[in-house]
Amino acid sequence: MSKADIIIIGAGPGGYEMAASAAENGKTVVLVERDQLGGTCLNRGCIPTKALCASAAVVGTVREAAAWGVTTGEVTADFSVAASRKDAVVAQLRDGVAMLLNKPEITIARGEAEMVDAHTVKVGEETYTAPNVVIATGSEPRDLPITGAELAVSSDDILSLTSLPKRLCIIGGGVIGMEFAAIFNSYGVEVTVIEFCKEILPPFDKDIAKRLKQSLSRRGVNIITQGAVNAIERTDSGTLMLSYDHKGKPKTVEAEMALMSVGRAPVLPVGLDKTGVAVERRGISVNEHMMTNVEGVYAIGDVNGLCMLAHAATAQGKVALDHILGRESAIRLDVVPSAVFTTPELAMVGLTEQQCEDKGLEPLVKKVFFRANGKAVAMGESDGLLKMIVDPSTRRVLGCHICGPHAADLIQEVATVMSLDASVDAIANAIHGHPTLSEVTAAAAVI
Ligand code: FAD
Repeated sequence: MSKADIIIIGAGPGGYEMAASAAENGKTVVLVERDQLGGTCLNRGCIPTKALCASAAVVGTVREAAAWGVTTGEVTADFSVAASRKDAVVAQLRDGVAMLLNKPEITIARGEAEMVDAHTVKVGEETYTAPNVVIATGSEPRDLPITGAELAVSSDDILSLTSLPKRLCIIGGGVIGMEFAAIFNSYGVEVTVIEFCKEILPPFDKDIAKRLKQSLSRRGVNIITQGAVNAIERTDSGTLMLSYDHKGKPKTVEAEMALMSVGRAPVLPVGLDKTGVAVERRGISVNEHMMTNVEGVYAIGDVNGLCMLAHAATAQGKVALDHILGRESAIRLDVVPSAVFTTPELAMVGLTEQQCEDKGLEPLVKKVFFRANGKAVAMGESDGLLKMIVDPSTRRVLGCHICGPHAADLIQEVATVMSLDASVDAIANAIHGHPTLSEVTAAAAVI
């Protein structure tokens, strides 16, 4: 039996980042991975989708080139080129992860980890033991329990496409569904999105989600809200017929392909039941140190279901490592920015206006539109707004919501101020360069 200080199961952004930091702190680590280094994020999630989003954005810009006085002639957008570019991006970054993990303190064990007990893990013929075991096994796509669910593809499957369907029906208007809607729409696919809730992107602020819906609808994406898909059938001509209930009325939509994007479920390692670790529906239960109910066993990232984002997984790994090293953690897990990489881009941090209302808060709210920003107008990307939500008594930022160019980068300034527990005036009083998109944030902070 081989011994280490820490066994980490899963080399996604939770597991591999934690392994590298633990090694830098002098700990010996066994990092177990049954598939590719980098996990869902690098191989089937953030990175391949963002490579496709970037290609789709270029296609969109080229289509609008005439408005810029650029004559391009016939525009052809070859999806197979975007697909191979995406694979190259992933391969390059995967090499980077392998280099990061190339440290004498880290042993990478290739294969399926099976938990023998809380502190013992079997990988093939080898058995490892450690006082600290970190479960970072991630998540997998969920299915709807409907007839014909197996006829739909998952986000994993759709990322290996090299040619396009004529029509795509996306079940679920969450982040993953909307990013794929924007990508495939740019490449000329007829896209329909069917979302169960009243608005797409349920966790996002309504004003922001509505804005994206309008923008994508203008570009031809058919977005149906309050629709519940209840069956998928193969027609005689080989297409798919999706039946759904729309506000009590039965309806259908036909497509060559259906994408199921209705959320993700935690992946639990085999043998977890032998460890006494408590599990709830959303994932493995953890405390504020990311430790489970079993001493020395931690669960980080998607597998605990707290926040299914790559940077949340990494941050939770830092918190768990701080606990293992016996030091207080300065990481603020309550301030996690998130983004949707469509055009226009969306980003948010903190509470939505609705959540403030539900809590009985009466916040200050200020909206600033990108059309009043010199840089956005000069870029030809003036569609969108930024909404700042502030507690009137403390002047702390409660939330910030953006729909507009580079929203995912802009949100970071607000997230940092929130993490520092600084007031919104810290943003207003800082000089922002001109002309920059950050002037939108600065204007919203004068509240
Ligand atoms: P994962 O990345 O899922 O890694 C878990 C690893 O554990 C996997 O490599 C798996 O093979 C391995 N594993 C599982 N069980 C075992 C076992 N028994 N033995 C050995 N190995 C095992 N997040 C963002 O922040 N930004 C985005 O833009 C974004 N885009 C996304 C787009 C898509 C299409 C998807 C699906 C997800 C996206 N996400 C995004 C979410 C992000 O990918 C996840 O939140 C993140 O990957 C979670 O990291 P993790 O380390 O918890 O798990």
